[in-house]
Amino acid sequence: MDGVEEQNRKKRYRNWIKGGLGLKYLKNGLEDFCDEMVKQQHRNLKKTVEEKINVSDIQCSSCNVSTLQPNHVKVKGKCPLFHIKCNCLHPGGNKMCPHNVCGVMYDEIIRLHASNPPCPNWKNTNSKRWCTDPWSVAKCFINASGYEEKSSASEIDCSGLLHVFLNSKGMRSLLTFSSTGPNVFAKALQSRNFILHSAKMELSDEEVKEHIENMIDVLKECTQLNSRKEASEAIENLVQIQNQDISFSTQTEGEILQSANAAMENRMKDMEEKMVEIQNELVEIKNARVFQQEHISYLNKKQAFQQGLINLYMERVVKVSPLPLQSDRHCTDIGQLYASPWMTFSLIDENLDRDERNVSVSRDVLVKSSNDIFYKNGTKNPKRLYIRGSRLRKKCILQIYCTRLVLSTLTVQWKRSPSTRCKR
Ligand SMILES: [Zn+2]
Ligand SMILES: [Zn+2]
Repeated sequence: MDGVEEQNRKKRYRNWIKGGLGLKYLKNGLEDFCDEMVKQQHRNLKKTVEEKINVSDIQCSSCNVSTLQPNHVKVKGKCPLFHIKCNCLHPGGNKMCPHNVCGVMYDEIIRLHASNPPCPNWKNTNSKRWCTDPWSVAKCFINASGYEEKSSASEIDCSGLLHVFLNSKGMRSLLTFSSTGPNVFAKALQSRNFILHSAKMELSDEEVKEHIENMIDVLKECTQLNSRKEASEAIENLVQIQNQDISFSTQTEGEILQSANAAMENRMKDMEEKMVEIQNELVEIKNARVFQQEHISYLNKKQAFQQGLINLYMERVVKVSPLPLQSDRHCTDIGQLYASPWMTFSLIDENLDRDERNVSVSRDVLVKSSNDIFYKNGTKNPKRLYIRGSRLRKKCILQIYCTRLVLSTLTVQWKRSPSTRCKR
């Protein structure tokens, strides 16, 4: 690496340190304000829950968020609040809050989340402290993990503070902006990620200027924040590092590197968790695919069997001899030979004895269709059918009539399922 290149690299590294220092100043400017807003949000949330359950001072310290029964149930298999990881989707094993408080809090936290769909991070929170600790509620709005033990703004990094402002409708409702609106938090968060996730730890002059500008906007644009002393001091410091080539102590450099390292570690943890989730999802998808393939194979075999039966009937049954008693004659299509046989039916009262039945069979009715035989009064199937006539006539009628019946059934089946229709 030649001298000029080395000088440029050092410059870009110093810019990166400036960016990290800017995040430290931004956090300093936000901390006290964020603590106050988190407390105000908590008071508002408690008031909402108290009004909903008609209790003056809600208290509960026994519920675990992972097994908490929400105050709503799933509708048609989906969460009515559109929370993808909602406890309502897996009600088995969930427990109702004994004070009827935490389920309502759970619902309200989902409603306060500004993402679409809402995605509170339950891993960061301790629901046993929801009634007493404002940050236990506020940490649900920090997307990244690693904040379980934090209990004040001073313990939470710049990213965590920006997430709370960005993702909580409860916090946003307390703020007014002079021009750009709450988008300033999203832009500052993007800058923070760009700086701390930089593998080379380098920023160009333009990049550091833009990112520090985004940080200043957060402190300047929010009306409730820009008049505060700590915010003004933070803006001054940010403007200074933006415009001047200042020197850093080794201690400052070490702090920035430490915070970048911690950010990388948290990012790695999040990615590892996501990988485990994706792997589990992949296993589920693979199992579902195998199940579907087995079912498809079964359906294919079933369809082949049906087709085989149809072919067999078409080949062996549909074509019959013109004289059933001389089956060695040339066979032909039954449709060519078939004529409706002259048949009549009589309804027999089974309560009568044999002699009385013979006497009672007096009003024969002409059979016009198979329904006349197999359906009694249009609905009920008769339990038994008797065919009377000469032996030869009975055999002819039965063979031709039954063959025709099978053919009709097949034809109906083909009409219902065109895919199973075969060529004649
Ligand atoms: Zn739900
Ligand atoms: Zn509870």
